[in-house]
Amino acid sequence: AEDAAYLISKIRTIPGFPKEGILFRDFMPALADARAFGILMDALEAALPVSADDFDVVAGLEARGFLFGPALAARLGKGFIAVRKAGKLPPETVSQSYDLEYGQASVEIETNAIHEGVRVLIVDDLIATGGTANAARSLIEKCGGTVAGFSFVMELIGINGMESLGSYPSSSLVRMP
Ligand code: 5GP
Repeated sequence: AEDAAYLISKIRTIPGFPKEGILFRDFMPALADARAFGILMDALEAALPVSADDFDVVAGLEARGFLFGPALAARLGKGFIAVRKAGKLPPETVSQSYDLEYGQASVEIETNAIHEGVRVLIVDDLIATGGTANAARSLIEKCGGTVAGFSFVMELIGINGMESLGSYPSSSLVRMP
């Protein structure tokens, strides 16, 4: 409980970023602080939504899934795959578009990054609506991979992000409005 409070004390809230009306949750202070980062990684590992035997690789979502995903993968003895925003990877890529509040975005991975039957744990810092996480799931499944589950550091409550994932196993460490 003391550790949890310490970790939460290192998550900063920035009102009005990136635009008015948004409460931005910022994890950078929790990474900068050795104790908080250790607590965070221990908790992510302890809260895995499935056994580490049930997935082969960790996929992190750009950009902040790149901060936690590789660290988790290394602890578990797994590889790491980057799910990138459109246009960042040299060809060839597989791409999946999804709806934003205004407009569309897409996520991409390298062709051949995921082979048929590979079991993937998807990691991101935060789930809000679930749009990004679901797009990553579709992308991985399009490539023949199997999504074993989702791990998030934080879940924004009241907008049904976790529910939008359906029956896939998922976990989050911290729930905040
Ligand atoms: P969603 O697609 O679930 O609506 O939004 C989640 C994505 O947006 C994640 O990739 C996450 O990094 C980013 N995001 C949305 N709101 C926040 C926030 O308050 N803090 C941080 N760190 N990321 C956010």
